[in-house]
Amino acid sequence: MSLFDWFAETRSRASEAYYRKTPNLNQNSQEREIPDGLWHKCSSCSALTYVKDLKTNLMVCPECGHHNQVDAYERIAQLIDAGTWQEMDADLTSCDPLGFKDRKPYIDRIKEYKQKTGLSDGVITGTGKIDGCDAALAVMDFRFMGGSMGSVVGEKITRMLETATAKRFPALIFCASGGARMQEGILSLMQMAKTSAALERHRQANLLYIPVLTNPTTGGVTASFAMLGDIILAEPKALIGFTGRRVIEQTLKQKIPEGFQSSEYLLAHGFVDAVVPRTKLKQNLSMILKTHQPHTLIADDRHLKGAAESFVPMMSDTKQASEL
Ligand SMILES: [Zn+2]
Repeated sequence: MSLFDWFAETRSRASEAYYRKTPNLNQNSQEREIPDGLWHKCSSCSALTYVKDLKTNLMVCPECGHHNQVDAYERIAQLIDAGTWQEMDADLTSCDPLGFKDRKPYIDRIKEYKQKTGLSDGVITGTGKIDGCDAALAVMDFRFMGGSMGSVVGEKITRMLETATAKRFPALIFCASGGARMQEGILSLMQMAKTSAALERHRQANLLYIPVLTNPTTGGVTASFAMLGDIILAEPKALIGFTGRRVIEQTLKQKIPEGFQSSEYLLAHGFVDAVVPRTKLKQNLSMILKTHQPHTLIADDRHLKGAAESFVPMMSDTKQASEL
């Protein structure tokens, strides 16, 4: 018996024993089951919301403001002006360079995720317009192997940045990642250097780069392009960090503060420039992009005014936090 099989068997035996001991747990959860696709139960406040209403509200709970994860295509639909999206490198896929196998061969795992998500890997890249402003975009999708960064994610992001540099477009990356993809070993770690180098060339061309950190942004992504922005935005209460809380506590041998590794904590400590609710994200991005265009020609500045109002309290939050 291999080590992986042994772990799997021990785990399934333990969970069977647990359910035998607590038969009501299963029963109750069945009673509370909600028909698929109609209603959504908030994982934060347990409020029931009609899925259509939740989608209209960009997957943000109307009761408590909890930001549910959104997939890459949904994110693009929320942000990019209709009919302007042009995807790049849609068919790029990993060829399992190490022949990696754990409980399943890596190549089978990729096939499975492709079927499940309809994506070729953990990121979608392309160009489009945000409120009329050109932008090059990479949107990570946490559903594909936890948004882990392997050679395809790194290559697609690098190509997107090179296109942005050539076309003189600002670049945006929506981060959602568990870190580097262990199945590609050192090759996945090399993507940190590759994407950072592409960003440096983009910066040397005096172009704007904005990472938007969503829940969760961790590991190698945090250690590379997520933290290299000219302006770093984050969604409320997103988990942002390099490594898990337990690992840090064990290494430092001390307790770390509550709320550590959240967007709000990073804003208070200067790692993030603004925490922007998803419902105001397009408005704020549009304002930033318009302000940074080389020859700003704004026919309609209503968005600018609205966005500026929503930005002011966030900036004063930072100030208050730093004064404390
Ligand atoms: Zn809620």
